[in-house]
Amino acid sequence: MTIRRILTLLLLAAGSMNAFSSEPPKLVITILVDQLRYDYLERFHDQFSEGGFRLLMDNGSFLTDAHYNYMPTITGPGHASFLSGAPPAVHGIISNQWFDHRTGGNVNCVSDPSVKGVGADGADGQRSPRNFTGSTLADEMRLRFHSKVIGVSHKDRGAILPAGKKPAGAYWFHSGSGNFITSTYYRQELPEWVKEFNGRKLPAQFIGQTWKRLLDPSFYQWPDDATGERKLAGEDKVTFDHRVVASEKEGFETIIPTPFGNQLLLEFALAALEGEKLGTSTHPDLLCVSFSSNDYVGHAFGPYSQEVQDITLRLDLQLNEFFKQVDQKIGLENVYIVLTADHGVAPTPEFAAEQGLDGHRVDPVEQMRDLLGKLGKRFGPGQYLQTPRIVDGNLYFNHDALRKMNVPEDDVADFIREWALASGNYQAAYSRRQLLEGLAPGELGRRVVNGYNAERSGDVVLVLKPFVLLSGSDSGTTHGSPYAYDTHIPIFFYGSGFQPGRYSDEFSITDIAATLCAALRMNEPSGSIGKPLVKALADQTQ
Ligand SMILES: [Zn+2]
Repeated sequence: MTIRRILTLLLLAAGSMNAFSSEPPKLVITILVDQLRYDYLERFHDQFSEGGFRLLMDNGSFLTDAHYNYMPTITGPGHASFLSGAPPAVHGIISNQWFDHRTGGNVNCVSDPSVKGVGADGADGQRSPRNFTGSTLADEMRLRFHSKVIGVSHKDRGAILPAGKKPAGAYWFHSGSGNFITSTYYRQELPEWVKEFNGRKLPAQFIGQTWKRLLDPSFYQWPDDATGERKLAGEDKVTFDHRVVASEKEGFETIIPTPFGNQLLLEFALAALEGEKLGTSTHPDLLCVSFSSNDYVGHAFGPYSQEVQDITLRLDLQLNEFFKQVDQKIGLENVYIVLTADHGVAPTPEFAAEQGLDGHRVDPVEQMRDLLGKLGKRFGPGQYLQTPRIVDGNLYFNHDALRKMNVPEDDVADFIREWALASGNYQAAYSRRQLLEGLAPGELGRRVVNGYNAERSGDVVLVLKPFVLLSGSDSGTTHGSPYAYDTHIPIFFYGSGFQPGRYSDEFSITDIAATLCAALRMNEPSGSIGKPLVKALADQTQ
């Protein structure tokens, strides 16, 4: 046997150690629906088409008891966790924004003053994943397979955070111009396919269109004018039909809180597939898509509205169309799909109250006035807080002022806890010391600790009671709590790497990356704390 032949055999053996039991996919598609509760998949199941959500439900692994394992359940953290397998404590995206002690102001989770917008001027373009700590599945796929990675969404954070630190591109919608844009973090100029897409001027075609119910009114589960609903911009009623009016300001933001917003992103994702030739090489590429329209509709109308039912049914049809096109272009047998949500949503407090669930609103301004007044009475006049409001559960102390006044921080934290619990609005309050020293007991404490980042979180973290919202408005709703209406989300894995079926096993958002990595035979992202659900893997010997 010649040396060359021996070398060849060795190389072949080395190659086979790398091999999959079945072929690796050509493309991994991750779909994040911004605000999609698990119960929607069951409540609306009979009205879904066969090839949308049901393609994943009937032919994929459906995790029916999957939860966010931290608070706050908010867009930035959700998008950062689902492909990193890390909680905010580790990846540092503790919310959509937080107070930054270094600059003395609030920072947006994807803001980056060192870069410029490409396709738009101003702060909308000054975005990058720099505030994210560690790697995501996207980065690890690049290191494992040389994968090409693209992220797309309406929201900047939706496009940027899942796609990791060095994707081939991340594009988000700029409502002022109606264009998809990026930043100089990624590239100096928009690629031809994005310019071409923007040139089609689709957003302009959606202005003036009417959003009607997809089905006969008898198919909808709750009245069209449920209590607590908020009107969309430019409308004078909360019921169907909704008209997409031209925005009062320049721009196209009025199309986003309607199914037309998702249609726009669907077209853009297809353009990305084509323009970047994803899934056409020998290694798996990654396309991360995040549909934001559902979130805006859910915030305005709540989870028990006809609007939420309708936009979910319409997204189902849009996914049906998307999967068909992916099948034609690449073949669904060559694709892995994962679909989940970045959080759920609470019913409007008015709706919750009507159902006997103790829902009510706490006015944040009045509440802060009360707290600051009582702090002054107890410890003397002073500027106790960096920002005179609660930033997603966090209160930030003014450390310099407290030092000068000789007021111990622990005393202030204890005082705020007693104030919060006595108000009747709060379930729990934790001090920084408690959270860093592991003194937050129980499941609630664990969720708060997972969401607490030592560098960025506040000095006190407050947790509202269930169905209570901090809200200065008299309608609409939100998310962010550690309760099941916000944490319980659907998760689907689809493709030859997974064992189809319904799994009611305990599963966390941070288990997605571990499960995908097991199926793809690759290293987990740096901060992953998750475990793969072995029985959902097609090859359970790994
Ligand atoms: Zn969101």
